[in-house]
Amino acid sequence: MIHKHDVLIVGAGLAGLRAAVELAGKADVAVLSKVFPTRSHSGAAQGGIAAALGNEEEDHVEWHIFDTVKGSDYLGDQDAIEMMVSEAPEVIIELEHMGVPFSRTKEGKIAQRQFGGHTRPKVGADGKETRVAIQRACYAADRTGHVILHTLYEQCVKHNVHFYSEYYVVSLIVKDGVCRGLVAFDIQTGELHTFHAKAVMFGTGGYGRAWKITSNAYANTGDGVAIAYRAGIPLEDMEFVQFHPTGLWKLGILVTEGARGEGGYLKNKNGERFMKNYAPTVMELAPRDMVTRSITTEILEGRGIDGKDYVHLDLTHVGEATLKERLPEIIGFAKTYVGVDPVKAPIPIQPTAHYSMGGIPTSLFGEVYLDEKGTILTGFYAAGECACISVHGANRLGTNSLLDGVVHGRRTGKQIAKFLQTAEFSELPENADTADRARIDELFASTNFKESYHHIKDTLRDNMMAKAGVYRNEKDLKEMKQIIHELREKYKNVGLRDKSKNFNTELMEVLELGHLLEFSEVVVEGAIARQECRGAHWRTDFEKRDDTNWMKHTFAFRTEKGIELKYKPVTVTKYQPMERKY
Ligand SMILES: Cc1cc2nc3c(=O)[nH]c(=O)nc-3n(C[C@H](O)[C@H](O)[C@H](O)COP(=O)(O)OP(=O)(O)OC[C@H]3O[C@@H](n4cnc5c(N)ncnc54)[C@H](O)[C@@H]3O)c2cc1C
Repeated sequence: MIHKHDVLIVGAGLAGLRAAVELAGKADVAVLSKVFPTRSHSGAAQGGIAAALGNEEEDHVEWHIFDTVKGSDYLGDQDAIEMMVSEAPEVIIELEHMGVPFSRTKEGKIAQRQFGGHTRPKVGADGKETRVAIQRACYAADRTGHVILHTLYEQCVKHNVHFYSEYYVVSLIVKDGVCRGLVAFDIQTGELHTFHAKAVMFGTGGYGRAWKITSNAYANTGDGVAIAYRAGIPLEDMEFVQFHPTGLWKLGILVTEGARGEGGYLKNKNGERFMKNYAPTVMELAPRDMVTRSITTEILEGRGIDGKDYVHLDLTHVGEATLKERLPEIIGFAKTYVGVDPVKAPIPIQPTAHYSMGGIPTSLFGEVYLDEKGTILTGFYAAGECACISVHGANRLGTNSLLDGVVHGRRTGKQIAKFLQTAEFSELPENADTADRARIDELFASTNFKESYHHIKDTLRDNMMAKAGVYRNEKDLKEMKQIIHELREKYKNVGLRDKSKNFNTELMEVLELGHLLEFSEVVVEGAIARQECRGAHWRTDFEKRDDTNWMKHTFAFRTEKGIELKYKPVTVTKYQPMERKY
């Protein structure tokens, strides 16, 4: 079956839906999502969305820009950061007008709370300037992503955006340098569909599911990045994967940084607030890469609780009323999943794979680059977590990601609208779905069950955690590369036991596993090459950041001979790199 729309948006998270809202009424827009739209991972975002509104205390766009550049460990492109942060106040007010129910200050303004790495200058008694935490994260209790996602979905429905819910996209149709559509299957029926469009946008989210402990939803398998990579698009900075400091022990379920923003302490087995040894001025509100390394060091040096691989997040002093008002979900999660009431006892936490800084390289307008020189693939766009512009560089600041999704979703929507003023439908190649149909038929016809996809997936995730996690070194990374090679060989022999067409989740998981293996190799290759410590990429065999050789973005290309790496300089406008201290 062939469908035709002006624009196809893959992904119903904040990036995809914000773009759809922008295009609704101007073009025939359809959104495809493998999960029901409001179940996209954006809905799990708890803590907030950053904007220098200054509702609680003095704040300036310039301060937010500086924090984002410094937080990125100077790998973020400063023109992109300036653009995102400058548009932040406007997009928040726009969301408010669309109906997002933000929490409020006493005067009725949008309430804001502290978050890691967001600071303001303060002159101390000694006359020296330091930077202390600032209240910059706009929030709706600890359900910020949920309320924004639902509001955007309502706006889409109101403006007649067409939804293909529970459609799984398997490939892009690209010919002669023009993206012409995509191939997807309807999860409900298993039927393969071809979609013809003038423009395709990916808002397919992150790739955290390649690690054993992760805060990410089951859907975050990096399909979009892998599909783009297979279509000949390079991937940028894939080695940078953020581990959030506070995941529930063993489960990885997120405890928002907002918990520390509301005053939570991190404590080791001696009851010591150990962050004073790592980031004495901002303590628990240092950026995530630093807090995560501090926790991991405490654990590795035997100061985890009972000598185990977790520490405590203590909220008991914050007070029951505040916790119930501002962190109700966290109370629920802790009670349900680890049997702890945060009002009365500290929560056991450990770092959890959380956010993908790398992804599909794009311009400031969401156009996708085909190389490190800036050649654009006509008709293809990306925004949100699957894209790399790069505003987060080597380490994203909390609450800058929802912002990224909304700002770049909006910008990409506007750019597509402009493109459509002159764009025509390019012809679909004959049998655009042949390869995908053959692959799926082959899986259904399989009778060889020697290899279990569960086993391959678990082996990948266990090893990515151990060898390509918070701390890395050459030996581990090279072993990881070898492991992935072996797993890819095994993957070739994976078969489908479930032969039914309706809601065949096994088929989806097998395809997702192919994506996990594809991009994990790129993560590892980039990490082996990058011989320095920067943001979330921390090599124990190198001492520090190396701006002379490594202040550049990785571009990984899929070639017949394997992965080829090239590099692109970082855009620096105002802020020269400095040592990152907090
Ligand atoms: C637990 C948690 C809490 C967070 N809290 C915050 C926070 O407080 N503040 C903040 O700024 N950031 C936060 N983040 C990060 C932020 O939520 C995400 O980066 C952001 O929401 C990503 O939005 P997105 O639109 O790019 O993608 P997502 O919301 O992840 O949506 C991806 C979409 O792509 C679709 N899709 C993917 N692959 C396919 C395919 N093959 N076929 C069809 N559809 C497909 C999915 O169905 C989904 O609709 C949090 C993240 C997590 C995991």
